[in-house]
Amino acid sequence: MSAQRLVCGQREELLQALCCGGAAEGLESVLDLLLAWDVLVWEEYLGLRTLGRPLCACVRELLDLACVRGESACALLLAAISQVLPEAPKAGLSFGGYEQGLTPPLVGADPKSAAQGLMSDRPSLVRKLRGGIAAALKALLESGSFTAYDCDEVQLLLYTPSQQARRLLDLVHSKGEAAAEVLLQHIQQKEDSPTLPDNEEHPAECLLYQKKLRSTISAQSHFLGTYGGTGTQSLDEIYTEALLEVAQGSGEAQQPLGLEDILGQAGTLNEEADTVLVSGEAGSGKSTLLQRLHLLWARGAALQDFLFLFPFSCRRLSTEERELSLRELLFLHCCWPDRDQDLLFQFILDHPHRVLFTFDGMDELRLCFSDERRHCCPTQPALVPTLLFNLLQGSLMKGVRKLVTSRPEAVSPSLKRYLHKEVALKGFSADGIDCFVRKHHGDPTVAACVLDSLRANTALFGLCHIPVFCWIVSQCSRELLGCGDGRPQTITDIYLMVLQHFLQCRSPRRPAPSLCWVQDHVGTLMRLGQLALDGLESSSYVFSSIELQRCGVTEEDICTGFLIQSHNLSSPERKHYEFLHVTLQCFFAAVFIVLSNTIDQSTLAKLFRPQHRQDSILTRVCLGSCLSASSKQEGAPEGGVEEAERPNMRITATFVSGLLSQRHRHLLLQVCPAPAMDRKCRQVVRCLSKGMQKHFRSIPQPVKGEKKSMHAMPGFIWLIKCIYEMQESSIARDAVANLEVEHLKLTYLNIGPVECTALAYVLQHLRNPVGLQLDYNSVGDVGVEQLLPCLEVCHSIYLRNNNITDEGICKLIEKGVQCENFQKIALFNNKLTDACTKHFAELLKKRPDFLALRLGNNYITAAGAEHLAEGLKSCQSLQYLGLWGNKVRDRGAEALALALQSCSSLVWLSLVDNGIGSTGAHALAELIKNSNTLEELWLTKNCITREGVEYLLQALEKNTSVKSVWLKGNDLSPEEVEEFTQREKRLIF
Ligand code: ADP
Repeated sequence: MSAQRLVCGQREELLQALCCGGAAEGLESVLDLLLAWDVLVWEEYLGLRTLGRPLCACVRELLDLACVRGESACALLLAAISQVLPEAPKAGLSFGGYEQGLTPPLVGADPKSAAQGLMSDRPSLVRKLRGGIAAALKALLESGSFTAYDCDEVQLLLYTPSQQARRLLDLVHSKGEAAAEVLLQHIQQKEDSPTLPDNEEHPAECLLYQKKLRSTISAQSHFLGTYGGTGTQSLDEIYTEALLEVAQGSGEAQQPLGLEDILGQAGTLNEEADTVLVSGEAGSGKSTLLQRLHLLWARGAALQDFLFLFPFSCRRLSTEERELSLRELLFLHCCWPDRDQDLLFQFILDHPHRVLFTFDGMDELRLCFSDERRHCCPTQPALVPTLLFNLLQGSLMKGVRKLVTSRPEAVSPSLKRYLHKEVALKGFSADGIDCFVRKHHGDPTVAACVLDSLRANTALFGLCHIPVFCWIVSQCSRELLGCGDGRPQTITDIYLMVLQHFLQCRSPRRPAPSLCWVQDHVGTLMRLGQLALDGLESSSYVFSSIELQRCGVTEEDICTGFLIQSHNLSSPERKHYEFLHVTLQCFFAAVFIVLSNTIDQSTLAKLFRPQHRQDSILTRVCLGSCLSASSKQEGAPEGGVEEAERPNMRITATFVSGLLSQRHRHLLLQVCPAPAMDRKCRQVVRCLSKGMQKHFRSIPQPVKGEKKSMHAMPGFIWLIKCIYEMQESSIARDAVANLEVEHLKLTYLNIGPVECTALAYVLQHLRNPVGLQLDYNSVGDVGVEQLLPCLEVCHSIYLRNNNITDEGICKLIEKGVQCENFQKIALFNNKLTDACTKHFAELLKKRPDFLALRLGNNYITAAGAEHLAEGLKSCQSLQYLGLWGNKVRDRGAEALALALQSCSSLVWLSLVDNGIGSTGAHALAELIKNSNTLEELWLTKNCITREGVEYLLQALEKNTSVKSVWLKGNDLSPEEVEEFTQREKRLIF
């Protein structure tokens, strides 16, 4: 199809793709290319730029212009769009081959003058200048080509780095040939000795301030927060690497990241944005990770591109009610420069790329992110949230890197638009747990005992993937190793364990160990519980002495160690406190809710109220913040949770469920009458059941011919976790009694080992077998083990993209062989090697009704294929076999083909991208000859030559069942492709 028809026919789609997300960068890069390729002249180029005009209007004008210009302009427009746009907005657009096919006229031609060079090289010049605007301006200023006014105009903080680069090029263009020569010379010099300008000597004042900043940050981050009130554990001694990955949804395969990769290129979503988000559940180690980065920077061991690092705690920023300028924010909240404040601040403004801001705990801000109130002036005061939001979106201090941590639920779609990338913190790996426990216990014998007891209790081991739980379990090793009662299984169990541990070990009275320990400390529990709940209701995590007094908290209560002094906020005359960790605040709030007789039914109902839409939390949090924290506290009805923040309330509700379980009844009956506990327990069970029914009611009726399927929302997993905390089979059974689906989809829900334990506990009670789809989570080997109890009720299990290795598969198959419903498994994109194939062969031998095995994108080679073939020989049921993206090569293909010749059930076989040549194709041709069930054979992206295709073609002459053999991307010339297509329509190229 002609390029002109493609542009006109896809006008709407092209418009959408170029305006996608509202950023002008896509259009501007396309214009740069068209200018370089001589499709546009300078005046047209300037006319089409968006400055001050709606983006859509500019795109429409460009499309009109290309259509009027005719075929070659449209072809180059398509080529430019294809080059510039990322994959997602391009999907669905047709480029008709014009993306590669045309050689733009000016590419390669030598420009006649420096000014012309600026135009013909514009796209690469923009890229080169982006990170070095200040140095280029300096060169232009020194040569007299630019005035200070020109420099200011380029460096307007409102521009993105690319826009600054374009503005600079525009000005150089207007100044003429001499200025163009200076600029090109500067860029050339920079390329010849890349370290030159960025290593520019920094004023002595800057280095002095850097020294002070480093020593302040080093002192702040040397010790680990949780040990604050209780001991001196240095971060160096205890820090354990946690799992970091590019967040799901970026479309990239999961690759573990190191600390420095957080600010690296992998996983970039938006080049123009400066904010990197680290997201993770409460207790997954976000604050500790930042603390580690701060310490490494302060020591000169990491992030050395940044001359200054300014660390902020959102918890602390929430207490700041004054209006501040950016300058005050930096200097007052992080580190005060002893002198030369003006010079330092100017340096920071002039060198944004050498500055890093970190913001810990965005979820603890009272206001949700909003990009409605613009504030661009670094010296004008504004409220702290306004400053923060403008920094994150880039209206203020464009070019400064910002590293933000938050729980995933608290990241609004509007913030996502400004993210450079998102990294997910997944807690400890199994090895990480091992390492942490050994570091925590100086005595290797104790560490070994703790690890043994953890491994013997897989539910607890699963919980230890969350570092804060791992810390508690290690802290309570005495209880764990036999002094306490029962085997801890749930999150409530481990928080009760730490409660008992602290109350008995830290209390100044040091009571003798007693079975009535709850009764002994009921006063402390109620006072800390009231404080915790009041705090959650008003999104407060830091408490003044007055607030402590209001709840009657005593010195003795503080000595138990659950509250620690907030160092940054306390002064000798005004102390402030916070809970050791926010999850402990939730736990104390739950204890109060369960024990207090002032909590009424409506409070519990609100606590378990399902969250309908993400927006609703945000709206509530926003509305809540309009009232000042103190007025809310005074005005709120006792025990009310109306304004409370949902993610923390959900954790609290999980603890309430656990505390009301029969297993902990004996503890709490010491202080709470049985009828009151029974009433609360019945109400919680009713709420959970109602919540589940609500999810089931949302299941749509299946389309004719399709399975009835439920796609679960995050709230579903939370309900399941609450049910698990109750540890009563009858409650779990009743909860899923009405769930009648054939397929349960739980994809992209951040499901890790903890969630797997709860899921298996509940789903094992399903009446009818389901297909359990858990693709794109973080199940891992430990999660797989946790899922085993529900394998009985799974006819299929889908675990694509879940970091599973052969070890997990070995356990899964061992169990799967015994489960009579189990017929399908999909493990695309995990970490499987040849070692797992023996287990699959066993499964195929022992389960004569197994239907589908999909192992695509793993690390299986010819040896693995040979093992698999052993199992396939005797198999008469398998219909689908997927090995896409492995490396079985010819030898593997031969083994598989031979084994499958006797299989009278195979319908679909994929060996795409497996390094198979014509020898393998020969063997597969024999399979085609002998099979009368095979319908589709996928051999795309291999290295099959003409000879191999001839074998396949001959085999097809004798076969009527095969409908298609896919062969695109093999070693064939266009003529051969054409010829084979003519000879056999079932060969698809
Ligand atoms: P979050 O900020 O995600 O809520 P934290 O960083 O506060 O989690 O971690 C809670 C506790 O877990 C820490 O106080 C510490 O005891 C432990 N912890 C977290 N991450 C690590 C780590 N990487 N190494 C050692 N301990 C850790």
